[in-house]
Amino acid sequence: MNNYDVIIIGAGVTGSAIARELSRYKLKTVVLDRNSDIGEGTSKANSGIVHAGFDATPGTLKAKLNVQGSEMMPELAKDLGIPFMRNGSMVVALSDEDIPHMHKLYERGLENGVKDLRILSAEEAREMEPNLSDDTKAALFAPTGGIICPFRLTSAMAENAFINHVEFHLLTEVTNITRLGDVYCIDAIRHEEFGDGKENVKYEAKCVVNAAGVYADKFHNMMAKDKLTITPRKGEYCLLDVTAGNHVGRTIFRMPSALGKGILVSPTIHGNLLVGPTATDLDDKEGTFTTREGLDTVNTPGASAVKDLPMHEVITSFAGLRPHGDRGDFVIGEINGCPNFIDAAAIESPGLTASPAIGVMVADLIREHLQPEKNDDFIPTLKPFTYMKFLSPEEQKALIEKDSTYGNIICRCASVSEGEILETIRRPLGARTLDGVKRRTGANMGRCQGGFCYPKVMEILSRELGVGIDQITKKGRGSEILTGVIKETEVEHD
Ligand SMILES: Cc1cc2nc3c(=O)[nH]c(=O)nc-3n(C[C@H](O)[C@H](O)[C@H](O)COP(=O)(O)OP(=O)(O)OC[C@H]3O[C@@H](n4cnc5c(N)ncnc54)[C@H](O)[C@@H]3O)c2cc1C
Repeated sequence: MNNYDVIIIGAGVTGSAIARELSRYKLKTVVLDRNSDIGEGTSKANSGIVHAGFDATPGTLKAKLNVQGSEMMPELAKDLGIPFMRNGSMVVALSDEDIPHMHKLYERGLENGVKDLRILSAEEAREMEPNLSDDTKAALFAPTGGIICPFRLTSAMAENAFINHVEFHLLTEVTNITRLGDVYCIDAIRHEEFGDGKENVKYEAKCVVNAAGVYADKFHNMMAKDKLTITPRKGEYCLLDVTAGNHVGRTIFRMPSALGKGILVSPTIHGNLLVGPTATDLDDKEGTFTTREGLDTVNTPGASAVKDLPMHEVITSFAGLRPHGDRGDFVIGEINGCPNFIDAAAIESPGLTASPAIGVMVADLIREHLQPEKNDDFIPTLKPFTYMKFLSPEEQKALIEKDSTYGNIICRCASVSEGEILETIRRPLGARTLDGVKRRTGANMGRCQGGFCYPKVMEILSRELGVGIDQITKKGRGSEILTGVIKETEVEHD
């Protein structure tokens, strides 16, 4: 039996932020996740925008935690050594009917406490963003809008929690929860990383945090009388090459209209251009495939407020599932009648932005209940990640002189060196799959989408993990890349 003070179900951005905040206290905490890597759920597939906070209804948790999270982000990113940019965002009015709605959004932003919001004339907006639609009438400008790498944020918060003694049990799928007096008993299945083996495992904890993304309703409904429904709301995207990355400098939304919320266009923190997402409700909580219809919607001229989008520069498409709850707000707090069972559920957009503030809110609830001592040894910072492409030529030269692997470029499209890949595998909670390397370093993420560098990254993973190359996977069990030998070469020995 594994006994803990706190068990967090889910190692997405929500669970990882909560784990990091809890590691400020002397608590025995474990995070359980059924996937083979941190952030393999919704946290890996979203717009990566740090929303300014004018969109959510005033008085909701979404509004409050969005603004708080956005304010916390610069210092957090600095502490964790991850790139973050306040590039600003614009909501563009494309018709006269949009103007009163834009003013409402401005008022809402002021009420939510968003700083420095401004209404721009069409001329001012176009001067800042020359590729705005010719129909632009005016724009709401939020200088506090930003962009971040959603996966880096998630994995860095998890790594920081880990170095502060939070345990992470990956490949561990929670199947049942029961309450026995003051403790919660959790049944789980632990899967082998390489192979088909699995075993039943049991856990006990004084406190459980339900941060299971689209599956959080399942665990809520196991404990609560008031049922919760979470609908996976799919968003599909096209990602354009870095050559298109400067088409806009800010994140450009169009005013929501009768035709829907419209498609946003944004640079990403890696220098690409992102166009999307759609919004379609599904029954399938695993439905992260893209569809012809969805991508056609993203591709429709006029769907966004940006003109001349170079859609011939698309290098990939992807989809993510918003955990859309039926209560109109994040569901955060103790379940009625279940002391110390805390939901962090229905965390749809702006959940990424709000995550640092959700972490503090949930940790405060647990602190009140369990009254733990402070962890005076808490380390808030991480050893910075190396990004060769962000270093000056002199800094690159000095690093290569110290360690020649930083001079061996593995991913040509995204300029990622062997040294960066080795670093990412060897870090605490490091990468163990091709997608793990991709999301941490950007390797395989460029124009060739791994066509050139996949085999090289597989060789490095195989060497570092000490397993055969045929066991290397894209994203965990069942996604092996090599299926067998097609030709054996006989080698003659002397
Ligand atoms: C299309 C789209 C665009 C978005 N854009 C933005 C944006 O620009 N800005 C923003 O702020 N927010 C955005 N969001 C919202 C943001 O992505 C989410 O709020 C956030 O990622 C939710 O994180 P989470 O940790 O709650 O869920 P998840 O990341 O899904 O994590 C839940 C974890 O629980 C685990 N789990 C589930 N069931 C079990 C089980 N039985 N046992 C063990 N583990 C389990 C899963 O494996 C998963 O890792 C967007 C979302 C989508 C889909």
